[in-house]
Amino acid sequence: MKFATKAIHAGQEPDPTTGAVMTPIYQTSTYWQKSPGDNKGFEYSRGTNPTRKALEGCLAALENAKYGLAFSSGMGATDAVLKLLSPGDEVITGDDLYGGSYRIFTKIFANYGIKFYFINLADPANVLPYINDNTKLIWIETPTNPTMQIVDIEGVAKIAKAKNVVLAVDNTFASPYLQNPIDLGADIVMHSVTKYLGGHSDVVMGALMLNDEDLYKRLWFIYNACGATPGPQDSFLVLRGIKTLHLRMRAHCENGRLIAEYLKNHPKVDKIYWPGFTDHPNHHIAKKQMRDFGGMISITLKGASLEDTFKVASSFKVFTLAESLGGVESLINHPATMTHGSIPKDVREKVGVVDSLLRLSVGVEDIEDLLDDLKQALG
Ligand SMILES: *Cc1c(COP(=O)(O)O)cnc(C)c1O
Repeated sequence: MKFATKAIHAGQEPDPTTGAVMTPIYQTSTYWQKSPGDNKGFEYSRGTNPTRKALEGCLAALENAKYGLAFSSGMGATDAVLKLLSPGDEVITGDDLYGGSYRIFTKIFANYGIKFYFINLADPANVLPYINDNTKLIWIETPTNPTMQIVDIEGVAKIAKAKNVVLAVDNTFASPYLQNPIDLGADIVMHSVTKYLGGHSDVVMGALMLNDEDLYKRLWFIYNACGATPGPQDSFLVLRGIKTLHLRMRAHCENGRLIAEYLKNHPKVDKIYWPGFTDHPNHHIAKKQMRDFGGMISITLKGASLEDTFKVASSFKVFTLAESLGGVESLINHPATMTHGSIPKDVREKVGVVDSLLRLSVGVEDIEDLLDDLKQALG
């Protein structure tokens, strides 16, 4: 099946009891057993729920994976992957990451004796000096949040495979419509479903997709044992959101391109980060591993202080100043104080997360209104 068909149908069948075309919201915590253990495959909703199961089938299909696991947030999904590790294990990851990922690595799992290396991943070979017998996981994000660095997934996957290290890719920024890391050799794909997959800024959810049965069993054990699993209402909302993922992504990419081109020559803009530009340092890799370049764009404002930047960020009328991304509505975010506020100033500034940086999540509104809003806000 092709992507659009999977987005609408995968994991879903007419409801066996009523024939309902849309998967019902099975709002139940528990299930009748005829005699202990004699049930219809559902026992307790922390572990399994029919609405969530339909969603997990759909999520797996979108990433060309065998298995999908839905979590109550992206961080819940990340937490489950990290719980595969033991004290003494080492993780290699990028130096530009979602702030919450940096926080869970350094403030939670580092306390449990796990060591993290934050390195520049512009070239996959950069991981080599950090790999040793204790290396158990490579965690990459591409495009990165918020400076839109591109990591060569296939290149890193080759090294990970040769060294017997699990490769997990946070694919939130690209969405499964633009990029499928498992096809490029990754072992686990993670999504903040809150973003493009949900698509309507009305649900917080996470997901893992993977092919390896043994790894799936270990992750399912963590999922059920630790319990960060989403309820049926949220699962339903995401099933519904995904049905238009391909349509939304085309519109995000189209608006994203027009806005990136507009901002590139704007006199108030200093740097612009968007992988679709041919002068982006890893544009050729983005072109190879992504179907299009998406609607996430970051800019720095020329000579702007924190105060100047706040003033611009607060003056939008169509873009909404808010954390998060990937919804139908356009958002503007100030990473240094919002999404990436948990990263120390010297660490974030090294990779370009400076006070004058703004991140745009370009929505699917009319492009004329978005361009007019940028015009008036930037002045
Ligand atoms: C939002 C986000 C997360 C965390 O997901 P939540 O659903 O907010 O828990 C992880 N990675 C990236 C790239 C994100 O943008």
